[in-house]
Amino acid sequence: MELFKEFTFEAAHRLPYVPDGHKCGRLHGHSFKVVLYITGNIDPKMGWIKDFSEIKQIFKPIYEQLDHNYLNEIKGLENPTSENLAIWVWQQLKPLLPELSKVCIRETCTSGCEYTGQ
Ligand SMILES: [Zn+2]
Repeated sequence: MELFKEFTFEAAHRLPYVPDGHKCGRLHGHSFKVVLYITGNIDPKMGWIKDFSEIKQIFKPIYEQLDHNYLNEIKGLENPTSENLAIWVWQQLKPLLPELSKVCIRETCTSGCEYTGQ
């Protein structure tokens, strides 16, 4: 069984290594979507794998670093592609939430990536 919890945050970024004239090299923003996946067994009494509000609480300090911020200024996100953002979220969150099985990042409705720790 796998459950997920979805978050949305607003942030600005630019990609420093794209060729001259590439639109992603200019400062711009996205309404990013982060989906956190948790794998585990269902607690027979509670009937759930984990309390959604507990996931929200654990993710909160990480979320606050991202929301309404300039991602390039965050340590480890100097090149804030979706891929690097997924890895960054994983690295921050995995020690706090060992059941984490996947991080999905969407920077638009049609573009994004998924990271499972490898
Ligand atoms: Zn972008």
